[in-house]
Amino acid sequence: MSFKKNILLYMLMCISLFATAQDIPITKASFDAINLAYPGLEKVNKLFNAGEYNDAANALLTYYRNRKNIKHPDFNVGDEARFRGKDIGKANQVKADNALEHKFQPQKGYGYYDYGKDINWDFWPVKDNEVRWQLHRVTWWQPMGMAYRSSADEKYAKEWIFQFRDWANKNPLGKSKDNDSFAWRPLEVSERIQSLPGTFNLFVSSPNFTPSFLLEFLNLFNQQTDYIPKNYSTEGNHLLFEAQRVLGSGSIFPELKQAAAWRKSGIEVLNREIKKQVYPDGMQWELSPTYHVATIDIFLKAYNAAKLAGAEKEFPESYIKTVENMVIATANISFPDYNNPMFGDSWPVEKSSRIKAFAAWAKTFPQNEEIKYFATDGAAGALPNYLSHGLTSSGFYTFRNGWNDKSTVMILKASQPGEFHAQPDNGTFELWVKGRNFTPDAGCYLYSGDAEVTKKRNWYRQSRVHSTLTLDNQNMVITKAQQNKWFTALNKPSNNGEGAGKMDILTYTNPSYQDLNHQRSVLFIDQKYFLIIDQAIGKATGNLGVHFQLKEDSKPVFDKAKNKVYSTYSDGNNLLIQSLNADKITLNEEEGKVSYIYNQEIPRPAFVFEKPKRDNKTQNFISIVYPFEGSKAPEVAITENTGNSLEKGEINLTLTIDGIKRAVKTSLIK
Ligand code: CA
Repeated sequence: MSFKKNILLYMLMCISLFATAQDIPITKASFDAINLAYPGLEKVNKLFNAGEYNDAANALLTYYRNRKNIKHPDFNVGDEARFRGKDIGKANQVKADNALEHKFQPQKGYGYYDYGKDINWDFWPVKDNEVRWQLHRVTWWQPMGMAYRSSADEKYAKEWIFQFRDWANKNPLGKSKDNDSFAWRPLEVSERIQSLPGTFNLFVSSPNFTPSFLLEFLNLFNQQTDYIPKNYSTEGNHLLFEAQRVLGSGSIFPELKQAAAWRKSGIEVLNREIKKQVYPDGMQWELSPTYHVATIDIFLKAYNAAKLAGAEKEFPESYIKTVENMVIATANISFPDYNNPMFGDSWPVEKSSRIKAFAAWAKTFPQNEEIKYFATDGAAGALPNYLSHGLTSSGFYTFRNGWNDKSTVMILKASQPGEFHAQPDNGTFELWVKGRNFTPDAGCYLYSGDAEVTKKRNWYRQSRVHSTLTLDNQNMVITKAQQNKWFTALNKPSNNGEGAGKMDILTYTNPSYQDLNHQRSVLFIDQKYFLIIDQAIGKATGNLGVHFQLKEDSKPVFDKAKNKVYSTYSDGNNLLIQSLNADKITLNEEEGKVSYIYNQEIPRPAFVFEKPKRDNKTQNFISIVYPFEGSKAPEVAITENTGNSLEKGEINLTLTIDGIKRAVKTSLIK
């Protein structure tokens, strides 16, 4: 044996002596969680049966260091070269290096705090619950693993192993009710079991990662995953996340005895919830486009985790079919710039990031030509074979004359009651014409917090800041729309003019208030403009208002004599909204705001057509929403309406627009 080899051996011994200093002895019980009959563990099993527990643990570590058939989506053994010497991003590097000094950032909204040389896991620098909960997500562990992969510096591995053990020692389940409520809140546990497998793969090749530590890791991972199904959150997205991650654990560590049961549990919950939370038309029950898309990702992440472990057949076919429907529903409620209306708690998206999302979805549904179309921005695949299209069980109605940047698209919400992220806004819509969203929803501005924050959030939730009808500016008490008619005239773009003379019609009734039904009809005339007929039906009395909001930069002209409002964009792409009532209507400006970014708001124009309701007689509003080219708004009037009978649901009138007559004759309800 050469001198060099001796030195090397000596060094290895030192390393292993140092590392084993904190190792706990390996016993028969150390293997309790592991299914030693799992294919690939034959050698481990043999040594275990011979009572050679140290050697069995060694063989198990060798197995994991060479395990390539189970794929993690981001980090795998054997792809070290992919990361060596590579930049892991400044934010990750800072997280990893601060972690070496026990400086952790518990939650993104706050900074780094020093948790002490002897880590104080109870430290609560800001009394925001999220700060204490999210500390236990240990989100800096994976960046430490990335820094290790990039630098090959053992300091990261030593420190991570130290912290893993320190966390385990100081936060055992059952330590106290208080500590359990933070460190063992099921959502936090699920965050850990989601990130730990990737971190495991990043560190498992380290000489500091000993056979004894491997068993400690697997046993704690086992305990944590096992804890969740017994303590699932009762509902909502927490439950979805937890189920998805339990399933993920069962997929990424199939060698654990509980793996099949975890997969089964996750699949059962997700399959039960997907049936409960997704309408037959593919919309998720929170009726917020942002949460709808987030839910697609949860369902698909679960499915793909199962797929990586070869367990996707454990999902029923209906599950993946539902997710496919959800993706198509997303396309239907998208404008040509890939944005969705900001209904409920929703936010705008960058076109590129939504295309990326479609591309990721397309991988699961490679045979779906429509998804392919949106995944490639139209370079491949095929458009849906419809234009205007209603998601009639959830109540999202899209009027559309095309799918490109020259198109006119209105998306209107007339829904069933929604869950947490929904607002009392039935009837509201966003109208997108030739690249411009003229009537963005106000958004939601903030989530939840103290009284001041809640007050600000509630401003955005008001019915009156949506394009719909209110009584005395109050919030709708009930949002439960009943669709009376949904008719679409054309299935293809009318670029040869065949849209002329055609009409798409929606009529729904919402029992908005005690003794007041709001019946709204929207006529998409000639695939070009909209007539909106609002009927306030019932014995309630008070002040009626039909509200509209415009984009922040639309610089509208308010013509109060003619009850007309129109934008003045210098590019000539403009919108007219006018009341065509023959009876007295008052046009009033209102406070308007819109929030595109969390905690940021901007003023914008808003207005209302108002009139009193003094008795049990139905009151009607007829408004035209007319996109036009140029700077001069068209002259619009109803010039003939002798056959008209809104009481009977019959429309029979003549519109005259810049001198050109257009007869409108249809039934609103039949
Ligand atoms: Ca809204």
